[in-house]
Amino acid sequence: MGAPRIGVLAVQGDVREHVAVLTALGVEVVAVRRPEQVERIDGLVLPGGESTVMDKLVRAFGLQEPLRSAIRQGLPAFGSCAGMIMLADRISDGAPGQQTLGGLDITVRRNAFGRQVDSFETQLHFAGLDRPVHAVFIRAPWVEQVGDGVEVLATVGEGPAAGRIVAVRQGGLLATSFHPEVSTDRRIHAEFVKIVSSQG
Ligand code: GLN
Repeated sequence: MGAPRIGVLAVQGDVREHVAVLTALGVEVVAVRRPEQVERIDGLVLPGGESTVMDKLVRAFGLQEPLRSAIRQGLPAFGSCAGMIMLADRISDGAPGQQTLGGLDITVRRNAFGRQVDSFETQLHFAGLDRPVHAVFIRAPWVEQVGDGVEVLATVGEGPAAGRIVAVRQGGLLATSFHPEVSTDRRIHAEFVKIVSSQG
């Protein structure tokens, strides 16, 4: 494959930040808003934002079915924060009627860290990366339960949420509770680009 073409779901959320990181990594980036664009991408990023709004817009734009079927057929995807929720098969504490795209055999809890630690930053050990990542959490979910095929890549190291799962991978699907797109560290996006390139 030449430079992979990676779509960023662009209905809501921090689209621009993901586009900037991916562009800096030398991939071709497409802002995905229309169903026909889904067929022309090699990978998909689901940004952070608000999953309830993202869900409604994905349905309103006719993107839910095309995205679900692309993911089911093996389209690699990376979701950060709200994007992780969109990729989860199950949500605890979802809004009434909230749906996801699914694909990842995990249960996520929305806004899991509670009011006191609504937003925080910490250093995390991330499987496969030599140095810790600086992780920014903003009203983040955590992963409450993982299925057999899901690899845990990072857990919170200290504090009241110590041990909570905040990054997972299942085949071509990658998800983080935090926002690598708001830091200057591009290694997690680079990992995703590697996944996309290896599946082409
Ligand atoms: N709390 C948001 C949600 O439920 C996620 C927050 C984020 O993406 N920063 O979708």
